[in-house]
Amino acid sequence: MSLEARTQTLGQALLAATRPGRSLLAQMREQLQWDEKLLAWAMEHPGLRTQLFRLIDTLPALTGSGEISRHMQEYLDQPEVELPELLKHLIHFTGRESLAAKTAAQTLTTAVSTLARKYIVGENFAQVRHTLERIRRQGMTFTLDILGEAVLSETEAQGYLQKYLDLMTQLAGVDWGCVPQVSVKLSAFYSQFDPLAERTTRIRVTQAVTQLLRKAGELGVAVHFDMEQYKYKNLTLAILQEVLLADEFRSRTDVGLTVQAYLQESEADVRELVDWVKSRGYPVTVRLVKGAYWDQEVIWAQQKHWPLPVYRRKSSTDANYEKLTRLLLENHRYLYPAIGSHNVRSQAHALAVAEALAVPLSAWESQVLYGMAAPLAKALVERGYQVRMYCPYGELLPGMSYLIRRLLENTANTSFLRQRLEKTDESALLAPPAWAEPTTPLPQIESFVGTPDTNFAEPGKPEQFLAAITQVKSQLGQTYVLPHCSAERLLDSVNPSNPTEVIGRVGLADATSVQQAIDLAQKAQPVWRQTPLSQRMDLLLKIADTLAAQRPEWVAWMALEVGKPIREADTEVSEAIDFCRYYAQMAEQLERGHTYDVWGETNRYRYQPKGIGVVIAPWNYPLAISVGMVTAALVTGNCVLYKPAEQSSVIGCKISQFITDLIADLGLPAGVFQGLPGWGEEIGPLLVTHPAVHFITFTGSRQVGCQIYAQAAQLVPGQTHLKRVVAELGGKNAIIVDASADLDQAVQGVVQSAFGYAGQKCSACSRVIVLESIVQPFVERLWAATASLVIGAATDPATTVGPVIDAVAQERLQTAIAQAKQRLTLVGERPAPAMGYFVGPTIFTDVPPDDPLAQEEWFGPVLAVLRVADFDQAVQVANGTDYALTGGLYSRTPSHIQRAAEELACGNLYINRGITGALVGRQPFGGFKLSGVGSKAGGPDYLLQFVDPKVVTENIQRQGFAPVAEEL
Ligand code: NAD
Repeated sequence: MSLEARTQTLGQALLAATRPGRSLLAQMREQLQWDEKLLAWAMEHPGLRTQLFRLIDTLPALTGSGEISRHMQEYLDQPEVELPELLKHLIHFTGRESLAAKTAAQTLTTAVSTLARKYIVGENFAQVRHTLERIRRQGMTFTLDILGEAVLSETEAQGYLQKYLDLMTQLAGVDWGCVPQVSVKLSAFYSQFDPLAERTTRIRVTQAVTQLLRKAGELGVAVHFDMEQYKYKNLTLAILQEVLLADEFRSRTDVGLTVQAYLQESEADVRELVDWVKSRGYPVTVRLVKGAYWDQEVIWAQQKHWPLPVYRRKSSTDANYEKLTRLLLENHRYLYPAIGSHNVRSQAHALAVAEALAVPLSAWESQVLYGMAAPLAKALVERGYQVRMYCPYGELLPGMSYLIRRLLENTANTSFLRQRLEKTDESALLAPPAWAEPTTPLPQIESFVGTPDTNFAEPGKPEQFLAAITQVKSQLGQTYVLPHCSAERLLDSVNPSNPTEVIGRVGLADATSVQQAIDLAQKAQPVWRQTPLSQRMDLLLKIADTLAAQRPEWVAWMALEVGKPIREADTEVSEAIDFCRYYAQMAEQLERGHTYDVWGETNRYRYQPKGIGVVIAPWNYPLAISVGMVTAALVTGNCVLYKPAEQSSVIGCKISQFITDLIADLGLPAGVFQGLPGWGEEIGPLLVTHPAVHFITFTGSRQVGCQIYAQAAQLVPGQTHLKRVVAELGGKNAIIVDASADLDQAVQGVVQSAFGYAGQKCSACSRVIVLESIVQPFVERLWAATASLVIGAATDPATTVGPVIDAVAQERLQTAIAQAKQRLTLVGERPAPAMGYFVGPTIFTDVPPDDPLAQEEWFGPVLAVLRVADFDQAVQVANGTDYALTGGLYSRTPSHIQRAAEELACGNLYINRGITGALVGRQPFGGFKLSGVGSKAGGPDYLLQFVDPKVVTENIQRQGFAPVAEEL
């Protein structure tokens, strides 16, 4: 009999053994229990499914029936949500404290707890033991997985390990009649698990795994390692392969690892694992699953513009699964295959292959998740196969993300379990999976597609950047003198992570340089404004291409000169490239202008360049902001004088040199763009007040910005126009965390937003406004996560917090922190390395809204926690500063999200995510109030600031004649 025929026979037998009397879906709908009904409705109504799962996700954060019933109405009582009559009836109550509301809340909580219990073996060991003993009596073995919150700190990572050590001890105390097994997730052993920080991650994770495996060995417990998101895969496999080759563990066969068939790389991984295990000489288990993070992987890859790591079609995954099943079973002499699936076809196929290859029954096993496919598991056991049940254990509420994953799987259109409920046609359920990967590109919904950041999980990427750092280090200490600048008056730029290292010496511009540069710009201006747009665009595209080709070098210069950690410097290169390409695209649209013709008269609305612009840039985004401001002015036909910040003068010179070189290569006039490094107070005013300058684009502090605004308003002799000032200034950005927030997400987002680049982003979070009821758990986890950040030199790939920019900033922050300690409650202050301009991340709590820490921009790693009584007060406090740059909200209450969108005063509001990292074209960036004046950088209106609109009206009627459409 052919393999396929045998698969069909086995599949039919399994289906018959698990066949429900009549449509399960119909039965579920008619059930008295609400949990069954909810699931059935979710499958029938897609709109309801989404809202219902969101509501269930929120449930753990809600306290009291009033809050629960309110959220039921907010989520479900929506025009787009189709509600079954019974549910409509349940949620149409008035008054949150009414009996009807309480009943609704109770019904939902009971239903969700009942649902959760179906997938979780117990909340404590007594319950777990009871369930596991039942599983054993049914002839199955098990693997136990501890559910929990995300691991955000080393305390939590330590806690995770300890829970497993304790669990293994408890398991070893019971005679199970089989080897008990636990399943663990590697990323939970180190809170800063990161493929970029490969060495540190390896060391930390290996320590934990070693401890776990030793203890497991002593106790006689087997350990299986789960696989998580794709970004962790390569490092997970690399660490495990290394540990399991160590003398101490090499002969251990009671360990295993996992492969996800939805990954396109999975076949190569399996082949590699087979080679590895052969060389190891002792088998390990390889669990084959389809993969549980499909939506997340697709969204992540799409947002990052990275290739999709997973197959697009479920049937392709199923087909790949069968291929890998065979590959594993063929190698059963070297490894122990564990076939984890709820799909009868996949399991039947595995049985048929095992049979065909004469794999002994004891040489492999099937696996299913607890609560997902009990009848299938039972049918397999009855036929003499080995079955292991994967059993999650833990409290119901922290287990909610697990529950949502199971519910998604159970109710997805493509899921076998759902099809089994709905389909009567069993042959379709058993049909061989067709390879169905589309060859067309993924649908693109963005009008501007930015350049992808580096994916540091790709093999070889971290090494490439480290090599660039070494190479750039060999170029340190050189002198840069741009045209018109002094070769004698030099500014030393030093490495803030190590101030003894001079990055370079830069010749300074003075009054004469400014005048010479202006003279040259005035010569170039008439030519440049006449240069066809295509050539101006070409310049921008070439700048973008050059940056892209030199990405690792630019990252190295930023890490060295301004102390920006590698990953953040990498995103800055992307941003600079995006600005060029985006503004080129926008300039093309602008060039079209508008046509307002009428019969006999043309009305043409066109834009013309303003003239000569001055760009004054900050040090904190030395590449992206400089390139963005410069290219916007250039592409619209203006000549530009560019003054970089003192602290990033070398990068400023490098930008100036390469753009000037490109201009020369393209045969464009020399005065189109000129770099003028110098002291801000010295040449800044000369540039700003020069009568030949038409506009100033500035990004920097409020103090300097306001000064420039005032100076530019003064008409000086010889000036024949009014100047425009575009100024992007500071912020005192707040994130509100309300009681319904997902704390895993909120803590992570706040830490990243507050301490990324040592708090020196204008978008950084410096205030977190927290609802009273959750302040304590939030602050506890916030500090633990902050205490786990790695402080160090920006060039070290493990670093999450680098230095502040210079000695002045360091001293200013140290003094401000010391004074704040006198009047505020300190949550914690990280010690900082002695050498370098480091300031340890510091958090104060219960900060009054009018305290200087809650009002002034400190521009460093200092975070204020403000406690508020309710959401109204949160909004009021958030809006209570002079600034309006960025803001954030962590909430799962729809009405709060809506209010925040309407009421929070900030140019960029981010909901349920970090508040930094705006992307060109996706989150155009800029604020209002005292955060700046002008349109958003990287947005559709930005270029309008560098042009003057002009309308030309022509009467085209001569002697009463003008073309008129005939059909009139
Ligand atoms: P800064 O104001 O000290 O310096 C900015 C630039 O202004 C530098 O090039 C400096 O040399 C120049 N300058 C100084 N004095 C001048 C003067 N009198 N006339 C003309 N130019 C002068 O700011 P910084 O420390 O470089 O940058 C940090 C500030 O920038 C923070 O306030 C931050 O919030 C803000 N920032 C805002 C944005 C935004 O998009 N809104 C982006 C980045 C930084």
